[in-house]
Amino acid sequence: VFHPLNVVAVMVIAGEAARILPRAPGLDDGLFAHDGQITRREVRALTLSALQPRRGELLWDIGAGAGSVAIEWMLADPSLRAVAIEENETRAARIRENAARLGVPGLRIVTGAAPAALDGLPQPDAVFIGGGGTDAGVVPGAIEALPHGGRMVANAVTLAMETLLLDLHRRHGGELTRIALARAAPLGGMTGWRPAMPVTQWRWVK
Ligand code: SAH
Repeated sequence: VFHPLNVVAVMVIAGEAARILPRAPGLDDGLFAHDGQITRREVRALTLSALQPRRGELLWDIGAGAGSVAIEWMLADPSLRAVAIEENETRAARIRENAARLGVPGLRIVTGAAPAALDGLPQPDAVFIGGGGTDAGVVPGAIEALPHGGRMVANAVTLAMETLLLDLHRRHGGELTRIALARAAPLGGMTGWRPAMPVTQWRWVK
């Protein structure tokens, strides 16, 4: 029914539904639908900074999880394109949802396991490895796909992946960073630092 009060009510509802996204990478984790497999806000901000999106470039986000890295890459500029590669079908569907809700429906999603799923994809300018890095052929396939000057960023939480990154750093150079975050959390009646698992990040230019 058209009535001034109803109009106000509709506006309030619309206001609540409106999503005003901050312009800097490192969006709140809660803006993405996820099942726990997501690169946390602070680590994601550092990851985007390391990936250095430049106008018109294409990113491969291997082991895309909730798609947060590929989505923030695309949000950085309308000219940026990304392919999210995710082997888990439920998560791949969630990436589609997240991309649509956050305004980058053009994100290409490949449901399948790397390295096979990388076959035939357009050449990337940058590759992020957030999962599957220890699977045979994934890192070599990504390195091979990059053009001269292409960037690679890989994050490790497990010892197996970290070992691989230490080896890559030894063989190829680049930069290794260790990101160790802690959040203040209740501790008894007081507050203490709760450390998150440290993330080892390797960044390299081919
Ligand atoms: N960066 C993501 C989180 C990655 S979690 C985000 O912020 O949302 C790691 C993901 O890698 C998981 O979803 C897992 O299913 C996926 N994965 C593991 N091995 C893979 C492979 N070989 N190919 C594709 N995806 C893989």
